[in-house]
Amino acid sequence: MTPVYERVALIGLGLIASSMFWGIRRSGLAREVTGYARSAETRETARRIGLCDHVFDTAAEAVAGADLIVLAVPVGAMEPVIRDIADHLAPGATVTDVGSVKRHVISAVQPHLPDGCHFVPAHPLAGTEHSGPESGFAELFDNRWCLLIPLENTPDQVVARVRALWEGLGSNVDEMDADHHDLVLAVTSHAPHLIAYTMVGVADDLRRVTDSEVIKYSAAGFRDFTRIAASDPTMWRDVFLTNKDATLEILGRFTEELFALQRAIRTGDGQHLHDYFTRTRAIRRGIIEAGQDIDAPDFGRTTVTK
Ligand code: NAP
Repeated sequence: MTPVYERVALIGLGLIASSMFWGIRRSGLAREVTGYARSAETRETARRIGLCDHVFDTAAEAVAGADLIVLAVPVGAMEPVIRDIADHLAPGATVTDVGSVKRHVISAVQPHLPDGCHFVPAHPLAGTEHSGPESGFAELFDNRWCLLIPLENTPDQVVARVRALWEGLGSNVDEMDADHHDLVLAVTSHAPHLIAYTMVGVADDLRRVTDSEVIKYSAAGFRDFTRIAASDPTMWRDVFLTNKDATLEILGRFTEELFALQRAIRTGDGQHLHDYFTRTRAIRRGIIEAGQDIDAPDFGRTTVTK
């Protein structure tokens, strides 16, 4: 494949950036990839495992001469990072990000961009509960969506190159506006994470009462919650602090529905429960038909950890 960029700089070297590096290398999407992470420990690990062609000790050195700069740090760290690199960006460079919230990131990054540079916000809808430079793998983005949020006055060809990068990484790319993105993600990702965190917290409280039963008999439903609730605390703290309105809107609706189900249980309204569960089962079928999950029992798990 012809490289899409000459030199890509990855700022932050965690799950997403390391997966991008292995994916870029798999498909030859850039001639050179540089990297920077704030801690010496992460930089050292990156060098040891061959992540990036060069890992620099400063972000300024990493971005020098890059035609694409990827901000792959927690959403709350985007502003200090762009402030740090703004004066070192090459003329005409494109900056993109991978943050899980878009309206906040745009207002944090856009004002600091030098004239002639462009910002193309992006969000790959792919991840795992693992973090850090050793957690990445080239296939992470295969057949997953990546949402781009093109800003006004960004030339089409600048957006098209970012799209080509994500398509080269294996993703299907769609475009959306920032507020719509933040609302959709509050429904599909942010609120579910908060609910998982809560459920695991409740179980943890119960464990004190029931000894180790919560772990011992943890059935598929609860196990899936524990996987989600093992996600990176810094990343998720920032998601909730920066996508406040949309998350609160969805949690409000969630609470209303929960109360309705609670009432149906209390009053023995089996019809309400059955109708509700029939509707939700159809959503699962829709996800499978769209190729976003597989129909195998227990999500296709082949091993069961006791
Ligand atoms: P990660 O594995 O935890 O890596 C985060 C990286 O950011 C690390 O290199 C870390 O540096 C650096 N960092 C953390 N706090 C920083 C700060 N205050 N200033 C500068 N650098 C800082 O995270 P990730 O999962 O790759 O997530 C990166 C971004 O992708 C986030 O914005 C997240 O919302 C988004 N995202 C995540 C997922 C997912 O499922 N994980 C999916 C889609 C999008 P050190 O290692 O030196 O601490």
